[in-house]
Amino acid sequence: MKLSEHTIHCRIDKSDRFRLADHDPAETCGLDIEKKEAKDLLADDVKRLSDLQERLYAEDRWSVLLIFQAMDAAGKDSAIKHVMSGVNPQGCQVHAFKAPSAQELDHDFLWRTTMALPERGRIGIFNRSYYEEVLVVRVHSKILQGQKLPKGLVTDRIWHERYESIRDFERHMARNGTLILKFFLNVSKEEQRQRFLDRIEEPAKRWKFSMGDVAERELWDRYMEAYEEMIRHTSTAEAPWHVIAADNKWFTRLMVARTIVNALDRLDPKFPKVEGAALDELKKAREALLAEEKSDARRAKNQR
Ligand code: ATP
Ligand code: MG
Repeated sequence: MKLSEHTIHCRIDKSDRFRLADHDPAETCGLDIEKKEAKDLLADDVKRLSDLQERLYAEDRWSVLLIFQAMDAAGKDSAIKHVMSGVNPQGCQVHAFKAPSAQELDHDFLWRTTMALPERGRIGIFNRSYYEEVLVVRVHSKILQGQKLPKGLVTDRIWHERYESIRDFERHMARNGTLILKFFLNVSKEEQRQRFLDRIEEPAKRWKFSMGDVAERELWDRYMEAYEEMIRHTSTAEAPWHVIAADNKWFTRLMVARTIVNALDRLDPKFPKVEGAALDELKKAREALLAEEKSDARRAKNQR
């Protein structure tokens, strides 16, 4: 499969028919990182993203929200690091969502999101997000019990109600000028096992390993069901999910970069035009600056 066809396959549009089994975590579209082509493709996209982000910032109309969800060790952190490597840090912010604090639990589940949303002109990245509310919270009923919701409101409809709240929230954000792209990094259970082993074996990676990660791994199938349902119910035209093959980190980066670049290209942000009176002012400023240079040169000559 070609890369451009594959980006279309990754984007979930016919969401009611979505099946995780149709997406191979080991897909590479026949590319090989050892070949120059893959490296060049990523370098090109990083450069294009940097240019597009400059225009987005200058235009100051749209915000971009990138949401990353995945099992542990799927490569969220490294995808974010590499794809955003060319972007001016001033125009970009990353927020990692951990288990909610006591204060956060005193509010509805979207409350803590609002403050972390990107301003116009900026790219905001959510490393995990409110989607944990239909993933980890669904897999562990104890977490839901700890959320202090009134008893009558916790019914077997709760997950569908949360999908609905999320769809409504994202539609609202889209209507107000936020471009939303959501990425599920689809790693296989075997590749996760290998990466956990690497984390244990390599001293520089040990800090990343936690015993909790192994406990979550044992619930793999339940997580996959929760992801599949989540993608079915929250893929929309204004906020699509992208299922990204994640067994090869270089391919994950390439796909994430390409998806963001294509979406920003369609947005086509433009540098604001300076015209009319503002342009006349600029011309005056230019003349004044040039005159300064001449008078400095004259003064220097007289002093000699
Ligand atoms: P790394 O890949 O480095 O381990 P991480 O994203 O897994 O990064 P951790 O600090 O290990 O970061 O984990 C954050 C934890 O917070 C995850 O286990 C996640 O499920 C949990 N979490 C995030 N949001 C919520 C939520 N709303 N309710 C409960 N748990 C949550
Ligand atoms: Mg973790």
